[in-house]
Amino acid sequence: MDVDDEREDHPKALQRHEALWFKRGDVVLSTDAFLFRVHKDVLSLHSSVFKDMFDLPSNDEKKPSGSSSVIEPEMYEGVPLVKLAGDEGKEVAHLLRAVYEWQYYRSNNDDTPLETIIALLVLSSKYDFKQIRRDVILHISRKYPMTLPEYDAIDDSDFEMFGEDWYNCHFPLLKALFKADVDALLPILYYACCGFLLGRIFEQADILGTECLHTLIRGRGELTNETSALIANLPDALRDVTSKCSPKCQNTAFVTGLSDFASCSDLKHCEGYDLVESCVKEACSRCTKSLADRINAKREEIWNEVPSYFVVLDSTSFTLITSKIWDEDTLLGPYPEVVGEEVPSA
Ligand SMILES: [Zn+2]
Repeated sequence: MDVDDEREDHPKALQRHEALWFKRGDVVLSTDAFLFRVHKDVLSLHSSVFKDMFDLPSNDEKKPSGSSSVIEPEMYEGVPLVKLAGDEGKEVAHLLRAVYEWQYYRSNNDDTPLETIIALLVLSSKYDFKQIRRDVILHISRKYPMTLPEYDAIDDSDFEMFGEDWYNCHFPLLKALFKADVDALLPILYYACCGFLLGRIFEQADILGTECLHTLIRGRGELTNETSALIANLPDALRDVTSKCSPKCQNTAFVTGLSDFASCSDLKHCEGYDLVESCVKEACSRCTKSLADRINAKREEIWNEVPSYFVVLDSTSFTLITSKIWDEDTLLGPYPEVVGEEVPSA
């Protein structure tokens, strides 16, 4: 828990939050913009960080007899004041409203604004609001398919979530999941971001931070290498397929236009049937189908390796993640407090 003990900016200059100022509240939280008068018991119920903080004996309790060496806590209108360092008032308001207002965040409400989702994820992780963190992670995970056919089926020009176009959510969510250590969802978010041109990715450098950007660029390079090899191998694959076919098919079938698929960083753009339709000419229908199926089997292999492009793990952890990445328990890990907790089936 970061509690800023600087006292220069007097909290009275700050604005009381209209909806989160309870007269009978017994603690005031201060942020850059707002003051919140809330209840220790309510926060303790949801958050282990606040519980631990409030469970510390107060100075009155531990003071044996009028000892004068104890620093008094900062007070505001008769109740303790806790400064939340580095948190924006607007974001803390989202978290506290999710705690106090039953309908404020429902994990089945896809119209929840992206800004709210991100604030809830980052702050619930920082202060260990377990239930909110779990709900938000599962909510986000439902928007990022974990199988290639489901991912292929998304029409990204017409898919909205959290009040935004789907593709506009990738960078902000990647950043938030990275910050909140949601390791199991990172590969699919990195993958989603790979679909952007490099120029667009570098524009996000300030938002993503060096480590996250570096992982994205490195993983995108590996992914592009794999898809490029798949595409470059197409003439050989065609020869192999037609070698078992009629001499006519063997002699006439050819590949063309592969350069249009160079540097493909999105598996959607090298779907087998689309690729064959664009690039393979004069092959019989049986060879065409066989080749498309072969390409799609290779795409599936590449898809299954996606986590390995974006995480650096020892071999044991890597096996665990690749074999269980789609599992809810893993999604909620490696956050130690949540692993092992009962997760309701979706
Ligand atoms: Zn043939």
